[in-house]
Amino acid sequence: MLTSTTSTYLLKIYEMKEREKKITPKTLAEEMGVSRPTAFEFIKKLENEGYVEKSGREYLLTSSGVEESLRIIRHHRVIETLLYEAGVNLDKACKIATQMQCILDDGSVESICKFLGYPKQCPHGRPIPEVVSNEY
Ligand SMILES: [Zn+2]
Repeated sequence: MLTSTTSTYLLKIYEMKEREKKITPKTLAEEMGVSRPTAFEFIKKLENEGYVEKSGREYLLTSSGVEESLRIIRHHRVIETLLYEAGVNLDKACKIATQMQCILDDGSVESICKFLGYPKQCPHGRPIPEVVSNEY
């Protein structure tokens, strides 16, 4: 299971990629609100774990990095939808989802998804990714 910090970094990296932002220790430090050495150290850890690889001056998600990111995004958005539909305001729902995204297992997230009637979007209007496989 991913640690909370790893899941937060992977989610951020994926979102930066969606915005076509280059992933370097500098840009990641800015996005995460941490120092550049901290971001660099973490990016090295993600590289050792096989989630990112260096390409020139930037880092790219590997296929396992993409797969893990999509899993976390799915968890985040499903949990957020559940809380929001239960009446929690969106900001708070998003914060709690960030804490819970790496705690819940895939099976529980599936159950919540079914309970919600398989929503296609989170309350921010962003797509909820389907269950991901190794096929890319
Ligand atoms: Zn959110």
